[in-house]
Formats: sequence, C-alpha cells, structure tokens
Amino acid sequence: MEIYPVKGTHDIYDKDAYIYQDIESRLIFVASIHNCNEIRTPIIEHTNLFVRGVGESSDIVNKEMYTFEDKGGRSITLRPELTAGIMRSIVSNKLYANADLPLKYFYRGPCFRYERPQAGRYRQFQQFGVEYVGVSSYLEDAEIIALGYHALMVLGLTNVKVYINSLGDEQSRKNYREALKEYFAKHIDKMCADCKRRYEVNPLRILDCKVEADQEIIKDAPKMSDYLSEDAKLYLNNVISLLKEIGIEVIVDNNLVRGLDYYTGVVFEYHAEKIEGLDNVGALGGGGHYAKLLKEVGGPDLEGVGLAFGIERLAYVYTHVHGSKYANIGPDFYLIGLNQEIIDKNFSLADMLRSKGFVIDTNYQVKSVGSLLKLAVKKNAKFAIIIGEEEMEKGRVNVKNLRSQTQTSVELEDLAQTLESLIIEYEEESAKLALEDVK
Ligand code: AMP
Repeated sequence: MEIYPVKGTHDIYDKDAYIYQDIESRLIFVASIHNCNEIRTPIIEHTNLFVRGVGESSDIVNKEMYTFEDKGGRSITLRPELTAGIMRSIVSNKLYANADLPLKYFYRGPCFRYERPQAGRYRQFQQFGVEYVGVSSYLEDAEIIALGYHALMVLGLTNVKVYINSLGDEQSRKNYREALKEYFAKHIDKMCADCKRRYEVNPLRILDCKVEADQEIIKDAPKMSDYLSEDAKLYLNNVISLLKEIGIEVIVDNNLVRGLDYYTGVVFEYHAEKIEGLDNVGALGGGGHYAKLLKEVGGPDLEGVGLAFGIERLAYVYTHVHGSKYANIGPDFYLIGLNQEIIDKNFSLADMLRSKGFVIDTNYQVKSVGSLLKLAVKKNAKFAIIIGEEEMEKGRVNVKNLRSQTQTSVELEDLAQTLESLIIEYEEESAKLALEDVK
C-alpha cells in the first residue's frame, strides 16, 4: 500500500533543507539584533483562542481551521497562525509582569490552514515572525516594519515592495464600515457568496476578495484614508516618515486589510516584484498593529504589533536568486577504506577528523576503489582520502582532489594539518573560479 502525503503538505529535504536552515538563521540574526528573544508555543491550542466570541469574519478562522475533538472531549485546533498563541502564552506565564515593555519575541514553526493548495499556498506551512507587545508609539510599528525589510535584504531579496495602510482607530473604522455598507448595498446582489457573508459580518473584509468581477466593484469603494481620524493619520504618517529616514520607501495601499480580524491601526505587507519565470506567490510576509488582542485572551490592556513571513514563499524566491550556491553541498573528505580491517580503523580516523571540524563521510562496505571514487563525486566531496593495504603499511594515505583530479601522498601523522591547508587552497581556488565565471 502506498501512502501519499496529505494534500497541501510537502517534505523538505537535502538542498531545500539547507535553504530553509539558511533562511531561518538569517531571520533569527535580524530579530536578534533588535533584541528579540525566542518564544516557542504549542502547535495545538484550545479552539476558543482563535474563535473569540461572535463577529469573527476572517476566512482563516471561519473556514480554514483544522479543528477536532480530543479524547477528553475538548475542542482543539492546529494553530492557523502563531500570534494568538503567543498572546495566550504571555498571559499564561504573566510575561508582561515586571518586564520592560515592549516584550520582543521572535518565533518560527508550522501553521495549518485548510486552503485550496496552489503556488505558494499550502495547508501546512512554516512561519517566522516577530511580536512586540506593550507598545506605546509609532516608533515600534516602524521598527517592526524595518526589521522585516532588513530581513529581506539580509536574504538578498532586494526587489521588494512594502505596502502600508491604516485601519484606523475604533471611531474611524466604525465610520468607514458604514460608508462601505452604504456603497456595497447597491452591488452586493451581484457579488460572490463570501462577500455576501462578509457584508453582514465585516464589510471591510470585502476589500480582500480575490474574485475578479468583485474587484471591479471594490475599485470604486470608499477609501479608508478618507475616514481616518486625525490621530490615526498622524500615526501612519509618522511611521512612513521614520521609514523614509532610513531609506525604506513604503507604498500606501488603501485596500490592504490583512487576513485576520484582530488588526487595528497600521497594517503592512512585503511583496517581491515580479520575477521573470516565477509564479506570483502573493505576499512574502505581512503584519500590523493589534490594540485589543492581549486583552481579548484575558491579559492586560496592552497593544502589540507583529509581522510574519511565510518561509515557503521566501524559499521559493530565495532559491531562484541563490539556489546555485547550494548545488555543491557535500563533505570535505570522503574517506575510503579498501578492506574491512581498514574500514574498521577508519571509524576512529573519521571521528578524529570530525573533531577537528571537517565534514567527513566514509564507506561502510568493501567496494572497488573506482566505484567508491564515483560515489565520492556523486556526494559532492571535495577530496577523497584513499587508504589501501599498501598505504596502511607505510603509514600514509592518498588524498585526491576531486575537482582537479590531482593526488598527493600524505603522512598519516600529519593528516589533520595537511587537510587543513588543502581545504584552504581548495576554497581559494573556488573563489578564483567563481570570479572567472562572473567575468
Ligand atoms: P498571515 O498570517 O495570513 O498574515 O500570513 C503571513 C504570511 O504567511 C504570508 O505573507 C505568507 O507568506 C504566509 N502564508 C500564509 N498562508 C499561507 C499558506 N497557506 N501557504 C504558505 N504560506 C502562507
């Protein structure tokens, strides 16, 4: 019986796993220079963390959650995103007490949404994000947006556009909602079923509709910017000018509402510019300000701002830009023993070389030297270290450069030192070759 992967899931291995590791470590670096600590929360949470009373209008919570009853009869949900769980954790662990605010956390891990799988859209995907909780000024919103932008620069993804909007304060949103209701009342009969539901629960959500015919109608809808209070406008403008000061140009997009209901105030998204031959995978990341979320999950009245990147989408663009860098990943040395006794002895030789920091792979079975050398090449090893009976007797080994095919005989006693200089020479040669390639 063949068991298939669950629809919308994917496995990450070999070269892709290196790419994911690399992306994550760069993102962690950028979060760390902003003094963020890591937070890890469970994948499963009580469903009512996400469905907080009536009035919830987001597709993510309404239609896309993996919710089930556990053996104890509790309603459990696989997290569709991490922010709510982090708020729950801040409350459960009273992390806000005696802490200098804002709390600054970064996180990473899988999320689950029952969406229609397509390019850049999975049912299980990874997010990396940052949350600042206990924020008191536009400076923190601007810092988070800048953090995300720097993260993309550190990944070498320079063709990025940042879109920003403000959902305003409560009064602005109330006025805007009414204006939208009035406008859409004339069109709602012709719009999709989702929009009809959104019209009843939260007309702001209609702006996020992807149906082409509906977008035509949305184009002429009232703009949030005309309904923002003076305070909300000033806040947004402060964020925009702070970012400008550090060279980050943002584009105001009046229809940007984000996919979750808890956002208030400033919201933003990062998009890669269209790259020839690449699918448009949607936003690489996004986030915004949330004034009430911590309170809604039982915590104090502290505001927060956060962002999340989808690692799959970053990896898709990153692979296109840097993928070739990962083509030659392999061991420094492939250690070849030509009979069983030597293979057994190589066990401790490999151990010694690994303790010096070399990446070592080796053969576990007797095979011909030709086939083992072929294997070493297949594994992308830089060198093969060949030890046969004759070498063993003389206390020497043959080290073969698998790129230049040159071979040197090395005293076993000096091995670690010689390998060190061989690797340095090899890297210098690689740099030269790369330079010639560019020319
Ligand atoms: P959100 O939590 O909806 O604000 O999404 C934040 C980021 O997560 C998006 O910008 C995407 O990069 C990523 N993302 C959201 N949903 C998916 C999905 N179904 N598959 C892959 N990535 C996703």
